[in-house]
Amino acid sequence: MWRELKPIGRHPDSGGYRRFAWSEADIECRAWFRAQAEGRGLAYEVDRNGNQWAWLGDPEAGDAVVTGSHLDSVPDGGAFDGPLGVVSSFAALDELRGRGVEFGKPLAIVNFGDEEGARFGLACVGSRLSAGQLGIEQARRLTDADGISLPQAMERAGYDPTAIGPDPERLARIGAFVELHVEQGRALDLSGDQVGIASAIWPHGRWRFDFRGEANHAGTTRLVDRRDPMLSYAETVLAARREARLAGAVATFGKISVEPNGVNAIPSLVRGWLDSRAADQATLDTVVTGIEKAAREYADAHGVELDIVRESFTPVVEFEHALRDEIARILEGASDCLKVPVLGTGAGHDAGILSGSVPTAMLFVRNPTGVSHSPAEYAAEDDCVAGVIALADVLEGLTRR
Ligand SMILES: [Zn+2]
Repeated sequence: MWRELKPIGRHPDSGGYRRFAWSEADIECRAWFRAQAEGRGLAYEVDRNGNQWAWLGDPEAGDAVVTGSHLDSVPDGGAFDGPLGVVSSFAALDELRGRGVEFGKPLAIVNFGDEEGARFGLACVGSRLSAGQLGIEQARRLTDADGISLPQAMERAGYDPTAIGPDPERLARIGAFVELHVEQGRALDLSGDQVGIASAIWPHGRWRFDFRGEANHAGTTRLVDRRDPMLSYAETVLAARREARLAGAVATFGKISVEPNGVNAIPSLVRGWLDSRAADQATLDTVVTGIEKAAREYADAHGVELDIVRESFTPVVEFEHALRDEIARILEGASDCLKVPVLGTGAGHDAGILSGSVPTAMLFVRNPTGVSHSPAEYAAEDDCVAGVIALADVLEGLTRR
């Protein structure tokens, strides 16, 4: 499976993947998914939001055990974020068939569309639409950098965009959804474990900081006469780092725009975007409040005006404790592992979106570099195999309960 996926959407210079939703590369990934499903005799279907499903057993029977992930990528993403979950799902099914397991419930493998949001700027579009967390009109208005709308992109890819929207009947037929994912951090590497279970997805948000000063000549304006927003911005970046470190959270200014953006001009405007995440809401509030307070002080000190706008916010997602504990028992019973580590994560996932509608859990596979959303993302073959066995054990346990 990896051999077939490897060349799809891979950029020759960076070695990273550019599998944007409904692009040529995404269409190839989708064709691959369909071939994997049909090659195994699974019933293939596409739901109203373009998510792909492969069924073993009757989809209408209810209480289905579902696994899967996504195949799209960020710009120059790694090979594992998403595809590891889909490949492992098919491999786990092969493993269970090899064991001669009788499935007491329907089992499905899913590929959620547009998880990364690299093209239309909103993550998890496929699962959000199905779970009713993205309005139909809002989805229709999403456009990419070339002005192509989501419905146009779906249509060009050969999918019907007219029926997009909530899919409660389909979600009601799912008894449990388990997503396996490459870890996007080094917790498992540090603990020496191959596989872990997710506890929660951290709350996270994005804030826009507009520092307004006065444009002037870089050569003739005395330092004392300047109202330079770049200085207050720079100090705010350092404050973000400090506040996050003190709280055990993360805070990042990863995007900036400058006006007039001239090498010999003091800027009139510096606009920076803060992304911050923490294990719980109170910690996140403390971090962001601390950064805002520092930013206002620095702005005042330089005679700069500051506006702060919260552009998006996603509250904490706690995965269902009963399912998580059941999976821990299955894994601890199936191997000589005494205790499966339970990890929080700062990254969003389809499993997080679905957790409001169905019992949901996640398995993480060790990533020794901790790097993700980059070609350096990595998982060793041994660890991938351990992930497949763990997923197979979990699916087997869940179809028997
Ligand atoms: Zn992912």
